[in-house]
Amino acid sequence: MSDAQTEPTATTLCVQAGLEPTPSVTEPLAPPIWPAAAFAYPDLETMEAILAGEQPGFVYARYGVPNHLQLERALARLEDGEAAVVTASGMSAITATLFALTAPGQRVVADVAVYRGTQLLLEHDLARFGVTVELVDCGDRAAVERALATPARLLWVDTLTNPTLRVRDLPQLASLARAAGALLVVDNTFATPFHCRPLAWGAALVVHSTTKSIGGHHDASGGAVIGPAELVEPIRRQVIRFGGRGGAFDAWLIQRGLATLPLRAARSSASALDLATRLASHPAVRRVSYPGLPGHPEHQLARRLLSGGFGAVLAFELAGGEPAVRRFLRPLRLVRFAETLGGTVTTVVHPATTSHRALAPEERRALGIADGLVRLSVGLEDPADLWRDLAQALAAAS
Ligand code: PLP
Repeated sequence: MSDAQTEPTATTLCVQAGLEPTPSVTEPLAPPIWPAAAFAYPDLETMEAILAGEQPGFVYARYGVPNHLQLERALARLEDGEAAVVTASGMSAITATLFALTAPGQRVVADVAVYRGTQLLLEHDLARFGVTVELVDCGDRAAVERALATPARLLWVDTLTNPTLRVRDLPQLASLARAAGALLVVDNTFATPFHCRPLAWGAALVVHSTTKSIGGHHDASGGAVIGPAELVEPIRRQVIRFGGRGGAFDAWLIQRGLATLPLRAARSSASALDLATRLASHPAVRRVSYPGLPGHPEHQLARRLLSGGFGAVLAFELAGGEPAVRRFLRPLRLVRFAETLGGTVTTVVHPATTSHRALAPEERRALGIADGLVRLSVGLEDPADLWRDLAQALAAAS
């Protein structure tokens, strides 16, 4: 036997035996997890063809593994976009989008009520990179028109604002952006593609924190950007350069969560509407903000833009202010005090001391964030149990 045909030693077999593809004419019903950090090429020509995009092939985990590709395909179809890129977190998707699509000297107009992490990134990092950032109330058409009178590259809004649950008029904002030559980017995390598909309302791009409702089980971190390939591809290259890809297992978990998104979102929305209605007539509660309530200022707009319910998240203000919030949080048993939303477990946060604590009280008030405001994300528990838990905590807060 020549040296090449000699069976490798046990030491080598321990490393390489079993790595060859598994022969099978059947397809798995559940996707495999691909934790590979790199993929081996058969030869230099194939490598060149893959890198040139002439042949399909995976290269390196940071560029993407099959779990990323599968999730991208699913999200692109769900949001009705041509292409998608998935990332390690919602902030990774937002960062890559902002840096890929802007250049020093350009302007970004963003909603004053945009997700706080996005606002911090805009004001601290994008501004340092030489991009001018202007925050405007995107519920005020005239204010948006004024802001867009000076050329802007992007107009950035969230479908539903955090934590005040205002509804942004996506078709109106899309037409204002288009007329001004700006791209409308919509963070659709709160609404989910089950309730709202912003590309159909004229948005240029949609971003998500898939850590939230799309993953839905509080066990994975991810983000996504969806839209036309000519915008998504530069964002994908930015994600790769920034090292913003997540792990294969997180992408797998998020895809697994996606399978039940319609069931979870429908159930959470129905329970949220039930709880919002009950909270609205409780004496310890000053006001409730939920787009599904007829008294919400954008209820009619919400009925037009959202389908299948009004989302899992609502906010309510305790009449007793922050001291009442402290008394309210302690006795909660089922409802967990945790900084997230959109999952199986019902969670509550106090924005004035968490996400918006760095703001001065008058800045918080201008955003509608009272000291007694609590944000509730409704999960999958029995709503009767949730109401009992909330009611006993409200009694303690009164
Ligand atoms: N966008 C919205 C609306 C969010 O609520 C969040 C997180 O809370 C993010 C983006 C950021 O997502 P991630 O925490 O996955 O980075």
